[in-house]
Amino acid sequence: MKETFLSKMCCPFDHSDLNHSVFIQEGEEIKEGLLGCPECSRVYPIIHGVAIMAPNEYRQLELEKPFYDKWKIELLENKEFSKIELS
Ligand SMILES: [Zn+2]
Repeated sequence: MKETFLSKMCCPFDHSDLNHSVFIQEGEEIKEGLLGCPECSRVYPIIHGVAIMAPNEYRQLELEKPFYDKWKIELLENKEFSKIELS
């Protein structure tokens, strides 16, 4: 996804502005990264240039897990797709 889209994206659940971390970027194109909602703590990965922003019931943790493992992101175990905040 294009870098310029980042500022236009919001959480599909509560419409909060999303935080983002970029892991791999080529030019203006973000290949891998993570969008995070400061309001509900949900995370939305950017994998192969596509932001995964489907509702929880349409997401499959098994498919996303290699991504989280690769970038050492720990999620809560209740399939809420929320990141564990390291204190
Ligand atoms: Zn949210």
